[in-house]
Parts: sequence; structure tokens; C-alpha cells
Amino acid sequence: MNILNYTEEHNRFRARLREFLAKEVTPHVDQWEKDHIVPKEIWRKMGEAGFLCTATPKEYGGHGLDFLYSVIVSEEVARTHHSGLSVSLHSDIVVPYIESFGTEEQKKKYLPGCVSGEIITSVAMTEPGTGSDLSSMITTAVEEGDSIVLNGAKTFISNGINTNLCVVAAKDPAVADPHKSISLYIVEGGTPGFKSGRHLEKMGFHSQDTAELFFSNCRIPKENLLGMKGGGFIILMQKLQQERLVCAMGAVASAELLMEYLIDYCKNTKVNGKPLSKNQATQFALVEMMTEVKLGRAFTDKLIAEHIEKHNVVVEVSMAKYWTTDMVKKLVDRAIDLVGMPAMLEEYRLARAFRDVRILSIFAGTNEIMKIIASRFMGL
Ligand SMILES: Cc1cc2nc3c(=O)[nH]c(=O)nc-3n(C[C@H](O)[C@H](O)[C@H](O)COP(=O)(O)OP(=O)(O)OC[C@H]3O[C@@H](n4cnc5c(N)ncnc54)[C@H](O)[C@@H]3O)c2cc1C
Repeated sequence: MNILNYTEEHNRFRARLREFLAKEVTPHVDQWEKDHIVPKEIWRKMGEAGFLCTATPKEYGGHGLDFLYSVIVSEEVARTHHSGLSVSLHSDIVVPYIESFGTEEQKKKYLPGCVSGEIITSVAMTEPGTGSDLSSMITTAVEEGDSIVLNGAKTFISNGINTNLCVVAAKDPAVADPHKSISLYIVEGGTPGFKSGRHLEKMGFHSQDTAELFFSNCRIPKENLLGMKGGGFIILMQKLQQERLVCAMGAVASAELLMEYLIDYCKNTKVNGKPLSKNQATQFALVEMMTEVKLGRAFTDKLIAEHIEKHNVVVEVSMAKYWTTDMVKKLVDRAIDLVGMPAMLEEYRLARAFRDVRILSIFAGTNEIMKIIASRFMGL
């Protein structure tokens, strides 16, 4: 039984996207991994083909499609086995801030470019000394006449090099309560005083351009405040459910892809004259791994269905984010032992997978923070 009601139209969209990715993305992934960035051109091609911001309303140049299209994009991009084309971050995490909290002028000005891929978004919360505890951020936003002046540094920012629209969290130093002092601001690429710093070299996610960002007397118009002044925390909280659900969806899709690869490998690789898949120990391992993937799929699909029906499932989504990302980490680790030495080679799939999935438990809220959220709601 399928919990999610995919229609023929959804299925056709998935097939078209899979074909597009096979032609425009997969052949280039190895090069992008070496370059540590994807070309901006691929964003425009994705936009042109209708695969960016599928949920954005038609009146702002979008496609006005339901969340299942976002699920399809997230799953199919995960199947391309790289992290650089961070479509879900753009379409399902950053752009929804503008859609939900932007003024009419902001939506008209920015959303069409987000849909076409001319605009590549990023969100800058983390600072050199501030990760999970956002209340201790020190980047400031001070009003001066018709402007807001930003000063500070951000780090670990995905799309930090390619971005030309950054949603920045900054604090009003005049407001003592940290939960009321943080606001979000839209900063356009090329604004004087806003620049990218180091392109950070990471253990995994090689094709994703993760960078430092600096704001030095960066003056933006007052109209670039996103949402209510001092409402930064509330905005971030309201969008956490979708953000973390997207992480769980990516983890399950990666796990499924890995299982396809692993089963194929075990069936087609002989050890002591017989396929690996004929060893009972290997069979048991594959069955156990597949069971976990199916548990992850069932849990995540249930949450997707509830999210579409606008239920508050933030606690279960926190559980799913930590469980599915831990699950795929364990899965790759075990897969490497099953495959043996070839798993160490870059030409096989597992080396990159091992590096990439390691990151999933850290970003979008660490898995420890997920458990803190869940324990609070469980009344512990
Ligand atoms: C690939 C990648 C891309 C990223 N992209 C972005 C981006 O686009 N924009 C952005 O703003 N940030 C981004 N980040 C940063 C990410 O959001 C932070 O790494 C994350 O919030 C955790 O912060 P930290 O790494 O500084 O860890 P810390 O918060 O310093 O935590 C260190 C350790 O302490 C634990 N810990 C923290 N607080 C508690 C607590 N109260 N109780 C128990 N344990 C706790 C954590 O779980 C962790 O194990 C990215 C990170 C990565 C790895």
C-alpha cells in the first residue's frame, strides 16, 4: 500500500526529471566533486525545465504544485549521488521564507528569479562561534535612517559562493532578549560590504560550495527586512518541520539508492566461486539493512502525508530526522564491510557516500538537538 497518493501526473514528472538528471547532472557529478562547486548554468537549466520551486504560486512565476512534487525532486536529486545541486535547500527551505513572510514587493521582485534559477539562494545563521544555540549570534543589524547596516561573519553557508540572494539572521544590539532581537534580512549578491570568504574544504559534500560570508558595514534598504522585526526565531521555528522533513526524505532516498547498488554488487561479485549474495551472512546483513530502510520509508512517508495535510508533526519529524540520518550512516558503514577493499576506491559508490552521509546528522539541527526537542514534547 502506498501512503502517498502519487497521480499519473506526478509519475510523468518524476520520469521527466529522472531523464533530465541523467543527461544534465549525472555525467558531470565527478567533475563537480573535483571542482567543489556546481556551475550556475545547471541552476538555470533546472529552472528552465520547471524543476525549481515547484510549489511557488503561479502569480510569482512558479508552478503552484503540491508538496509531492518537492518530494519527487528531493528524492530524484538524492539519487544523483552528490550534494552540490542543493535544490531542496533552495526550493523547500529558503524560498518558502520569502513566500510565507515576504512583502508583496519582495515576492514580486525575487520569486520569479528563484523559479528560473537566475537567483540561487542561501541562508546564513551559523557563525564562527554560534551553531546550535542561535541566541548567542553576534552579527548585528542596526537601523540608520532608511537603511539597515549589517556587521558580522557567518560560516558553513551552503551555496555560499554561488549565492546571489542570502537570507541573513542578525541581531538588534539594542534589544536585550536574544529571542526577540533576531530578525531576518534579504541581502542581494553584489551589495557593497557583503562578500564571500573562504570556500571551505569539507570531509564530504565536495560538490557543494560551503563558504564563509562577511558583512562589513553592509547597507541594505529597510524594505529588505523579511517578516516582522524581531521575529527571526518565530519564522525559523515555523519552517523547521519542512526543513527537517526534507533531510529525512534525502536520507531515505540515499539509503534506497545504496541498497540498490549494494544488492546489485553482491549478486554480481563472486567470492570463492559464488556470488557474495549467496553467503548466508551477507544475506542476513542485506535483509537487516533493507528492513531498516523500509522502516525509514514508512515513517517518512507517513510524515510527508501529515505535513501535506498541515498537521503539526514537528516532534515526529525531529525523531525521523535523527533516526533516518543515523540509519543511513550505519548502512554505509556496514556496506563498506560487505564490499571490502573496492569500497575504498573513489570509482565505487561507497567512498563518497560514506563521506556525504556523515554530514546529515550535523546540519539542519544536530541529531542531539532533535532528541532535545522530542524529549521536551514528551514531557521529560
Ligand atoms: C555541510 C554543511 C552545510 C551547512 N549549511 C549551513 C547553511 O547553509 N546555513 C547555516 O546557517 N548553517 C549551515 N551549516 C551549519 C549547521 O547548521 C551547524 O553545523 C549546526 O547548526 C550545528 O552547529 P555546530 O556545528 O557549530 O555545532 P555546535 O552547536 O557547536 O554543537 C557541537 C556539539 O554539541 C552538541 N550540542 C549543542 N548544543 C547542545 C545541547 N544544548 N545539548 C546537548 N548537546 C548539544 C551538538 O549536537 C554537537 O554534537 C552547515 C553545516 C554543514 C556541515
